[in-house]
Amino acid sequence: MRCLVKQHILQSFDILSFQNKLLDWYEDKKRDLPWRQSSNPYYIWISEVMLQQTRVDTVIPNFENFITLFTTFQELVAAYEQEVLKAWEGLGYYSRARNLHHAAKEVVHSFNGVIPNDPEQFGQLKGVGPYTRGAVMSIAFGLPEPAVDANVMRVLSRVLRMEENISEHRVKKEFENITRGLVPADDPSSFNQGLMELGALICTPKEPMCMFCPVQSHCRAYEAGIQNELPIKGKKKKQRHIAYAALLLEYNGEYVIEQRPKSGLLANLWQFPMIPLDEMALEDGVTWLSSEYGIDVSIDKKVATLKHVFSHIIWNITIYKGTVIRKETDQRLEFVHPDAFDLYPFPVSHLKMIPYID
Ligand code: SF4
Repeated sequence: MRCLVKQHILQSFDILSFQNKLLDWYEDKKRDLPWRQSSNPYYIWISEVMLQQTRVDTVIPNFENFITLFTTFQELVAAYEQEVLKAWEGLGYYSRARNLHHAAKEVVHSFNGVIPNDPEQFGQLKGVGPYTRGAVMSIAFGLPEPAVDANVMRVLSRVLRMEENISEHRVKKEFENITRGLVPADDPSSFNQGLMELGALICTPKEPMCMFCPVQSHCRAYEAGIQNELPIKGKKKKQRHIAYAALLLEYNGEYVIEQRPKSGLLANLWQFPMIPLDEMALEDGVTWLSSEYGIDVSIDKKVATLKHVFSHIIWNITIYKGTVIRKETDQRLEFVHPDAFDLYPFPVSHLKMIPYID
Protein backbone atom coordinates (compact mmCIF):
# COMPACT_ATOMS: atom_id res chain seq x y z
CA MET A 1 0.00 0.00 0.00
CA ARG A 2 2.79 2.44 0.97
CA CYS A 3 4.67 1.79 -2.26
CA LEU A 4 1.53 2.43 -4.27
CA VAL A 5 1.08 5.80 -2.54
CA LYS A 6 4.69 6.64 -3.27
CA GLN A 7 4.44 5.60 -6.92
CA HIS A 8 1.27 7.61 -7.31
CA ILE A 9 2.68 10.81 -5.76
CA LEU A 10 5.96 10.65 -7.65
CA GLN A 11 4.35 9.66 -10.93
CA SER A 12 5.18 12.21 -13.63
CA PHE A 13 7.43 14.06 -11.17
CA ASP A 14 10.82 14.79 -12.69
CA ILE A 15 12.97 13.65 -9.77
CA LEU A 16 16.32 14.18 -11.45
CA SER A 17 15.59 17.75 -12.49
CA PHE A 18 14.19 18.53 -9.00
CA GLN A 19 17.33 17.13 -7.36
CA ASN A 20 19.65 19.09 -9.64
CA LYS A 21 17.86 22.40 -9.18
CA LEU A 22 17.79 22.01 -5.43
CA LEU A 23 21.45 20.95 -5.24
CA ASP A 24 22.62 23.86 -7.43
CA TRP A 25 20.65 26.35 -5.37
CA TYR A 26 21.95 24.91 -2.09
CA GLU A 27 25.54 25.04 -3.29
CA ASP A 28 25.09 28.68 -4.21
CA LYS A 29 22.97 29.97 -1.31
CA LYS A 30 23.69 27.83 1.73
CA ARG A 31 24.40 29.70 4.94
CA ASP A 32 27.82 29.41 6.47
CA LEU A 33 26.89 27.65 9.72
CA PRO A 34 29.53 26.36 12.15
CA TRP A 35 28.44 22.70 11.95
CA ARG A 36 28.67 22.83 8.17
CA GLN A 37 32.43 23.24 8.38
CA SER A 38 32.90 19.66 9.50
CA SER A 39 31.61 16.19 8.73
CA ASN A 40 32.59 14.95 12.19
CA PRO A 41 29.56 12.80 13.15
CA TYR A 42 29.78 14.02 16.75
CA TYR A 43 29.41 17.67 15.71
CA ILE A 44 26.65 16.84 13.22
CA TRP A 45 24.78 14.88 15.87
CA ILE A 46 25.03 17.70 18.43
CA SER A 47 23.88 20.32 15.93
CA GLU A 48 20.93 18.26 14.72
CA VAL A 49 19.70 17.62 18.25
CA MET A 50 20.07 21.31 19.11
CA LEU A 51 18.26 22.42 15.96
CA GLN A 52 15.10 20.53 16.79
CA GLN A 53 12.46 23.08 17.81
CA THR A 54 15.11 25.77 18.26
CA ARG A 55 16.04 28.67 15.97
CA VAL A 56 19.38 28.64 14.14
CA ASP A 57 20.35 32.01 15.71
CA THR A 58 19.94 30.51 19.17
CA VAL A 59 21.74 27.31 18.27
CA ILE A 60 24.92 28.93 16.85
CA PRO A 61 26.40 30.31 20.14
CA ASN A 62 25.16 27.31 22.11
CA PHE A 63 26.72 24.88 19.65
CA GLU A 64 30.03 26.72 19.74
CA ASN A 65 30.01 26.82 23.52
CA PHE A 66 29.11 23.12 23.74
CA ILE A 67 31.89 21.89 21.48
CA THR A 68 34.36 24.15 23.25
CA LEU A 69 33.41 22.55 26.57
CA PHE A 70 33.21 19.02 25.17
CA THR A 71 35.54 19.12 22.20
CA THR A 72 35.51 15.40 21.60
CA PHE A 73 32.89 12.74 21.91
CA GLN A 74 34.96 11.19 24.71
CA GLU A 75 34.83 14.43 26.69
CA LEU A 76 31.05 14.42 26.48
CA VAL A 77 30.90 10.82 27.67
CA ALA A 78 33.15 11.60 30.63
CA ALA A 79 31.13 14.66 31.72
CA TYR A 80 28.69 14.72 34.63
CA GLU A 81 25.04 15.13 33.67
CA GLN A 82 24.90 18.45 35.54
CA GLU A 83 27.76 19.78 33.38
CA VAL A 84 25.93 18.73 30.22
CA LEU A 85 22.70 20.35 31.41
CA LYS A 86 24.61 23.52 32.29
CA ALA A 87 26.05 23.62 28.77
CA TRP A 88 22.53 23.13 27.40
CA GLU A 89 21.11 26.02 29.41
CA GLY A 90 19.13 28.36 27.21
CA LEU A 91 18.20 25.77 24.60
CA GLY A 92 15.23 24.30 26.49
CA TYR A 93 13.90 20.77 25.97
CA TYR A 94 16.49 19.44 28.39
CA SER A 95 15.47 15.83 27.86
CA ARG A 96 17.30 16.11 24.53
CA ALA A 97 20.54 16.81 26.39
CA ARG A 98 19.98 13.99 28.85
CA ASN A 99 19.18 11.56 26.03
CA LEU A 100 22.22 12.66 24.05
CA HIS A 101 24.47 12.11 27.04
CA HIS A 102 22.90 8.72 27.68
CA ALA A 103 23.22 7.74 24.00
CA ALA A 104 26.88 8.77 23.99
CA LYS A 105 27.50 6.33 26.84
CA GLU A 106 25.63 3.63 24.90
CA VAL A 107 28.01 4.22 21.98
CA VAL A 108 30.98 3.62 24.28
CA HIS A 109 29.38 0.53 25.77
CA SER A 110 28.06 -1.09 22.58
CA PHE A 111 30.23 0.30 19.77
CA ASN A 112 33.68 0.83 21.32
CA GLY A 113 33.14 4.58 21.39
CA VAL A 114 32.68 4.90 17.61
CA ILE A 115 29.40 6.45 16.44
CA PRO A 116 27.86 3.71 14.26
CA ASN A 117 27.35 4.44 10.56
CA ASP A 118 24.53 1.94 10.40
CA PRO A 119 21.06 3.54 10.40
CA GLU A 120 19.53 0.63 12.32
CA GLN A 121 22.16 0.70 15.07
CA PHE A 122 22.28 4.46 15.31
CA GLY A 123 18.49 4.68 15.34
CA GLN A 124 18.32 2.48 18.42
CA LEU A 125 20.29 4.88 20.60
CA LYS A 126 18.33 6.78 23.20
CA GLY A 127 16.58 9.86 21.87
CA VAL A 128 17.50 9.19 18.24
CA GLY A 129 14.29 9.39 16.21
CA PRO A 130 13.86 8.98 12.45
CA TYR A 131 14.78 12.62 11.73
CA THR A 132 18.05 12.63 13.72
CA ARG A 133 18.95 9.24 12.32
CA GLY A 134 18.41 10.39 8.73
CA ALA A 135 20.18 13.71 9.22
CA VAL A 136 23.30 12.25 10.88
CA MET A 137 23.50 9.27 8.53
CA SER A 138 23.20 11.41 5.40
CA ILE A 139 25.27 14.44 6.47
CA ALA A 140 28.05 12.70 8.36
CA PHE A 141 28.25 9.40 6.46
CA GLY A 142 26.74 10.17 3.06
CA LEU A 143 24.04 7.49 3.30
CA PRO A 144 20.88 8.06 1.22
CA GLU A 145 18.52 8.26 4.19
CA PRO A 146 15.54 10.64 4.37
CA ALA A 147 15.61 13.34 7.08
CA VAL A 148 12.06 14.61 7.44
CA ASP A 149 11.32 17.37 9.91
CA ALA A 150 8.52 19.97 9.93
CA ASN A 151 10.43 22.15 7.42
CA VAL A 152 10.83 19.32 4.98
CA MET A 153 7.22 18.22 5.35
CA ARG A 154 6.09 21.77 4.62
CA VAL A 155 8.23 22.01 1.47
CA LEU A 156 7.27 18.60 0.14
CA SER A 157 3.59 18.91 0.96
CA ARG A 158 3.64 21.98 -1.30
CA VAL A 159 5.91 20.68 -4.03
CA LEU A 160 4.04 17.37 -4.28
CA ARG A 161 0.67 18.86 -3.30
CA MET A 162 0.06 16.41 -0.50
CA GLU A 163 -3.13 17.47 1.22
CA GLU A 164 -3.02 15.19 4.22
CA ASN A 165 -2.74 16.19 7.85
CA ILE A 166 1.00 16.32 8.62
CA SER A 167 0.30 16.07 12.37
CA GLU A 168 -0.64 12.43 11.92
CA HIS A 169 2.05 9.85 12.56
CA ARG A 170 0.87 7.81 9.55
CA VAL A 171 1.36 10.81 7.25
CA LYS A 172 4.82 11.51 8.62
CA LYS A 173 5.79 7.92 7.81
CA GLU A 174 4.41 8.43 4.30
CA PHE A 175 6.59 11.52 3.89
CA GLU A 176 9.64 9.53 4.96
CA ASN A 177 8.80 6.87 2.44
CA ILE A 178 8.34 9.39 -0.37
CA THR A 179 11.47 11.34 0.55
CA ARG A 180 13.46 8.12 0.40
CA GLY A 181 12.50 7.99 -3.27
CA LEU A 182 13.82 11.52 -3.81
CA VAL A 183 17.20 11.44 -2.01
CA PRO A 184 20.01 11.05 -4.56
CA ALA A 185 22.59 8.36 -3.82
CA ASP A 186 25.53 10.56 -4.84
CA ASP A 187 24.92 13.56 -2.52
CA PRO A 188 22.27 12.85 0.13
CA SER A 189 23.93 15.29 2.54
CA SER A 190 23.47 18.36 0.32
CA PHE A 191 20.03 17.23 -0.82
CA ASN A 192 18.66 16.85 2.71
CA GLN A 193 20.26 20.07 3.85
CA GLY A 194 19.00 21.77 0.69
CA LEU A 195 15.41 20.81 1.50
CA MET A 196 15.80 22.12 5.05
CA GLU A 197 17.47 25.30 3.82
CA LEU A 198 14.71 25.89 1.28
CA GLY A 199 12.14 25.53 4.05
CA ALA A 200 14.07 27.95 6.28
CA LEU A 201 14.83 30.65 3.69
CA ILE A 202 12.29 30.50 0.85
CA CYS A 203 9.41 28.10 1.43
CA THR A 204 8.60 29.63 4.81
CA PRO A 205 5.45 28.83 6.82
CA LYS A 206 3.77 32.12 5.92
CA GLU A 207 4.14 33.92 2.61
CA PRO A 208 6.56 31.57 0.84
CA MET A 209 8.80 33.45 -1.60
CA CYS A 210 7.82 31.49 -4.67
CA MET A 211 9.30 34.07 -7.04
CA PHE A 212 12.78 33.21 -5.77
CA CYS A 213 12.23 29.49 -5.47
CA PRO A 214 14.62 27.25 -7.39
CA VAL A 215 12.05 24.44 -7.69
CA GLN A 216 9.07 26.59 -8.57
CA SER A 217 8.62 24.85 -11.94
CA HIS A 218 8.15 21.54 -10.06
CA CYS A 219 5.79 22.86 -7.42
CA ARG A 220 2.26 21.56 -7.72
CA ALA A 221 0.88 23.81 -4.97
CA TYR A 222 2.30 26.90 -6.71
CA GLU A 223 0.83 25.78 -10.00
CA ALA A 224 -2.58 25.47 -8.34
CA GLY A 225 -2.14 28.69 -6.35
CA ILE A 226 -2.66 26.93 -3.02
CA GLN A 227 0.81 27.25 -1.50
CA ASN A 228 -0.53 29.28 1.43
CA GLU A 229 -3.06 26.59 2.29
CA LEU A 230 -0.48 23.85 2.70
CA PRO A 231 0.58 22.01 4.74
CA ILE A 232 -2.61 20.83 6.42
CA LYS A 233 -2.15 20.62 10.17
CA GLY A 234 -4.38 19.29 12.91
CA LYS A 235 -5.61 21.77 15.48
CA LYS A 236 -3.02 22.31 18.16
CA LYS A 237 -4.09 21.26 21.63
CA LYS A 238 -4.66 24.28 23.82
CA GLN A 239 -1.88 24.79 26.33
CA ARG A 240 -2.86 24.68 29.98
CA HIS A 241 -2.03 27.76 32.09
CA ILE A 242 -0.48 27.22 35.51
CA ALA A 243 0.13 30.06 37.98
CA TYR A 244 3.21 30.05 40.24
CA ALA A 245 4.88 32.35 42.70
CA ALA A 246 8.68 32.10 42.43
CA LEU A 247 10.58 33.20 45.52
CA LEU A 248 13.99 34.85 45.55
CA LEU A 249 14.76 34.17 49.19
CA GLU A 250 17.90 35.69 50.66
CA TYR A 251 19.80 34.49 53.72
CA ASN A 252 23.07 36.25 54.59
CA GLY A 253 23.83 37.09 50.96
CA GLU A 254 22.94 33.60 49.71
CA TYR A 255 19.78 32.49 47.93
CA VAL A 256 17.66 29.38 48.26
CA ILE A 257 17.56 27.03 45.29
CA GLU A 258 16.24 23.49 44.98
CA GLN A 259 16.74 20.70 42.49
CA ARG A 260 13.73 19.54 40.50
CA PRO A 261 12.75 15.85 40.62
CA LYS A 262 14.81 13.26 38.75
CA SER A 263 12.14 12.72 36.12
CA GLY A 264 9.47 14.75 34.36
CA LEU A 265 9.54 18.36 33.22
CA LEU A 266 12.97 20.04 33.56
CA ALA A 267 14.25 17.03 35.51
CA ASN A 268 17.29 17.60 37.74
CA LEU A 269 17.57 21.31 36.93
CA TRP A 270 17.83 23.89 39.71
CA GLN A 271 15.26 26.58 40.47
CA PHE A 272 14.14 29.12 43.00
CA PRO A 273 11.31 27.74 45.16
CA MET A 274 7.95 27.84 43.43
CA ILE A 275 4.49 27.85 44.98
CA PRO A 276 1.66 26.53 42.80
CA LEU A 277 -0.92 29.31 43.15
CA ASP A 278 -3.70 27.22 41.62
CA GLU A 279 -3.40 24.91 44.62
CA MET A 280 -2.70 27.32 47.47
CA ALA A 281 -2.58 31.03 48.25
CA LEU A 282 0.83 32.67 48.66
CA GLU A 283 0.41 32.85 52.48
CA ASP A 284 -0.43 29.14 52.62
CA GLY A 285 2.62 28.48 50.46
CA VAL A 286 4.78 30.24 53.03
CA THR A 287 3.37 27.99 55.77
CA TRP A 288 3.93 24.97 53.52
CA LEU A 289 7.60 25.94 53.02
CA SER A 290 8.01 25.99 56.78
CA SER A 291 6.42 22.58 57.36
CA GLU A 292 7.83 20.88 54.26
CA TYR A 293 11.36 22.38 54.06
CA GLY A 294 11.91 23.81 57.52
CA ILE A 295 12.44 27.40 56.38
CA ASP A 296 10.49 30.34 57.78
CA VAL A 297 10.36 33.19 55.32
CA SER A 298 8.91 36.64 54.99
CA ILE A 299 7.78 37.88 51.59
CA ASP A 300 9.02 41.42 51.07
CA LYS A 301 7.74 42.54 47.67
CA LYS A 302 6.58 41.54 44.24
CA VAL A 303 9.26 42.38 41.67
CA ALA A 304 8.01 41.14 38.29
CA THR A 305 5.87 38.73 36.37
CA LEU A 306 6.93 36.46 33.58
CA LYS A 307 5.33 33.99 31.26
CA HIS A 308 7.09 30.87 30.06
CA VAL A 309 5.61 28.81 27.26
CA PHE A 310 6.25 25.08 26.95
CA SER A 311 4.74 22.93 24.18
CA HIS A 312 1.85 21.77 26.38
CA ILE A 313 1.65 24.23 29.28
CA ILE A 314 2.24 27.88 30.06
CA TRP A 315 3.72 29.01 33.35
CA ASN A 316 2.46 32.39 34.55
CA ILE A 317 4.98 33.30 37.22
CA THR A 318 4.90 36.14 39.71
CA ILE A 319 8.33 36.77 41.18
CA TYR A 320 8.68 37.85 44.82
CA LYS A 321 11.70 38.80 46.87
CA GLY A 322 11.82 37.63 50.43
CA THR A 323 14.03 36.79 53.37
CA VAL A 324 14.73 33.55 55.20
CA ILE A 325 14.23 34.11 58.93
CA ARG A 326 14.97 30.61 60.18
CA LYS A 327 16.26 27.49 58.49
CA GLU A 328 16.74 23.86 59.32
CA THR A 329 18.98 21.55 57.34
CA ASP A 330 17.14 20.10 54.41
CA GLN A 331 19.15 18.29 51.74
CA ARG A 332 16.73 19.30 49.00
CA LEU A 333 17.63 22.97 49.39
CA GLU A 334 20.92 24.72 48.80
CA PHE A 335 21.93 28.21 49.89
CA VAL A 336 24.07 29.64 47.14
CA HIS A 337 25.81 32.97 46.62
CA PRO A 338 24.90 34.54 43.21
CA ASP A 339 28.58 34.32 42.18
CA ALA A 340 28.22 30.53 42.28
CA PHE A 341 25.02 30.28 40.23
CA ASP A 342 27.22 29.40 37.25
CA LEU A 343 27.79 25.99 38.78
CA TYR A 344 24.10 25.05 38.62
CA PRO A 345 22.00 24.40 35.50
CA PHE A 346 18.82 26.52 35.64
CA PRO A 347 15.85 26.39 33.26
CA VAL A 348 15.45 29.47 31.06
CA SER A 349 12.52 30.80 33.11
CA HIS A 350 14.65 30.87 36.28
CA LEU A 351 17.71 32.28 34.50
CA LYS A 352 15.47 35.24 33.68
CA MET A 353 14.84 35.79 37.40
CA ILE A 354 18.51 36.14 38.34
CA PRO A 355 18.75 39.82 37.25
CA TYR A 356 16.13 40.68 39.93
CA ILE A 357 18.64 39.76 42.60
CA ASP A 358 20.46 42.95 43.53
FE1 SF4 B 1 7.47 26.59 -1.66
FE2 SF4 B 1 6.60 28.38 -3.43
FE3 SF4 B 1 8.81 26.99 -3.89
FE4 SF4 B 1 6.49 25.81 -3.97
S1 SF4 B 1 7.21 27.42 -5.32
S2 SF4 B 1 8.33 25.04 -2.98
S3 SF4 B 1 5.38 26.87 -2.36
S4 SF4 B 1 8.49 28.50 -2.25
